[in-house]
Amino acid sequence: MASLASVKTWDETADVVVVGFGLSGAITAIEAHDTDAKADVLILEKMPERWAGGNARASGQDMFSAKDVDGLMRHQRALNEANPVPEDVLRTWAEAVCTQEPWVARLAKEAGRELHAGGDWGRSHVEWPEEPGADAITYLMTIRPHPSGVWETFKFHADKRPIRKWFETPVRDLVQDPDTLEIFGVIAERQGRKIAIRARRAVVLCCGSFEGNLRMLRDYWGIDRVYSYGTPGNTGDGVRMLQKAGADLWHLRGPSHAAGFWPGFKVPDHATPFMRNIRHPGFSWIEVAKDGRRFHDETSKLALERHWRRPFHGRWLDGLHKDVQPVHMIFDDRHRAGASLALQEGMSWNAQVARIPWSQDNLAELRKGWFVRADSLAELAKTIGKDRGAIEAEVMRYNAACNAGFDLDFDRARETMVPIEGPPFYAIEIIVGLPQAVAGGKRDKESRVVDTDGKPIPRLYEAGELGSTMVGRIQTGAFLTECVVFGRIAGRNAVAERPWAN
Ligand SMILES: Cc1cc2nc3c(=O)[nH]c(=O)nc-3n(C[C@H](O)[C@H](O)[C@H](O)COP(=O)(O)OP(=O)(O)OC[C@H]3O[C@@H](n4cnc5c(N)ncnc54)[C@H](O)[C@@H]3O)c2cc1C
Repeated sequence: MASLASVKTWDETADVVVVGFGLSGAITAIEAHDTDAKADVLILEKMPERWAGGNARASGQDMFSAKDVDGLMRHQRALNEANPVPEDVLRTWAEAVCTQEPWVARLAKEAGRELHAGGDWGRSHVEWPEEPGADAITYLMTIRPHPSGVWETFKFHADKRPIRKWFETPVRDLVQDPDTLEIFGVIAERQGRKIAIRARRAVVLCCGSFEGNLRMLRDYWGIDRVYSYGTPGNTGDGVRMLQKAGADLWHLRGPSHAAGFWPGFKVPDHATPFMRNIRHPGFSWIEVAKDGRRFHDETSKLALERHWRRPFHGRWLDGLHKDVQPVHMIFDDRHRAGASLALQEGMSWNAQVARIPWSQDNLAELRKGWFVRADSLAELAKTIGKDRGAIEAEVMRYNAACNAGFDLDFDRARETMVPIEGPPFYAIEIIVGLPQAVAGGKRDKESRVVDTDGKPIPRLYEAGELGSTMVGRIQTGAFLTECVVFGRIAGRNAVAERPWAN
């Protein structure tokens, strides 16, 4: 935190300073402008303009709509179980989810796009139908055309309005009164210089959580080989600023990490990981844990539909990949030749934003050394540093199960029991990838960040995944939907603050 006294001159002034130009930042700025058209709204974004858009741009673009406030509250209460959010926050969220669709539809139309009822992933519209209140959910929705239809809609509106945007301007700190905690502005970096930007009315942090910061993921979650499928920009800066500002932090680690752990590949040539191709038609593969043994039903449809969670004694647990690393996928030549191992479209930074190619037959990637080939399982085991006997036994056991037609170990679906035939054999390391984290400041129903006494920190707001209220299991589309809810609330309230300076 920088004190007001430490700021000798203000390099810039705005009424509302929004930190981060992803979905919640765009919506906050739009709502602030539409509430008070005379207000000067400035968005500060860390990334260069062509890489702005945050996780929202890389996301699957699903949102959802609901029709019954009490039912939706019941439902989300059940999903957040063990870690409830305050009832007034939950009600505010539920009321907005049940009423915001016409606003989203209007903005989509004005942007020359269409709000489409029904998601694009062929999933059933209710992710947790057995939980109370599930009937409150009407449908998934997205904005077409893609790619990034939802993000492009709100970017269009943020660009259309006189909202200023400074790119390549990471915010490092908040300017604050150390006694009252009131926020007066931010310290940012621009063109190699530290600058002070005065926020006459308020600062809104919309800069994502810490999913892109391996150090913080190790410190807070105790796991390794974990990478974000979204923007490389979300490195926990908001969490750090909130810590320094005396905010009460929450959701640093949920009972189940909000959007699950998705299997993928991290190669040395790129900072961001590839998501495994969940649409690959082949099944002649297994996954083995550190000890060379299979550890779960690799092709579970249920897990895929439930953000990679699996039922366990009446609870839903995250997938085990993170607990048994290093994990390797072992496959044969049919699988190698069948389709790209990595997802090519629909979501993830690599596929949807950076557009990093991955060949259909995977040969280019094999040549680059992104995965390995061997003429025997013994050689393969040696190359990936696993026990030879375990790998040989496991492939033999799996192939025997395929021939028998049932998997006594993990009950893998019969239609996905295809033997691994070789040589050659292949292996690639599976990392766990994150759609996002939800750590951030505790927020109240006005989207204000509260301090450790539960009091709002004057002039400090937050929206989006930073301090998200979606903390347990989630309905598909919950995060983009929540960006609309709290982005609008934060924008409206921030611009309504009485200016502290001229
Ligand atoms: C692959 C993938 C699929 C997903 N699919 C869905 C889906 O279908 N439906 C759904 O609801 N959710 C989905 N999500 C989650 C959703 O995308 C995020 O929760 C949402 O985008 C969060 O929005 P945000 O505005 O909080 O952050 P973001 O959209 O990530 O924007 C944050 C911005 O802040 C910037 N920033 C960071 N630090 C600073 C700083 N110090 N100074 C200035 N700027 C900074 C970043 O560069 C970034 O541009 C998905 C996420 C991923 C990665």
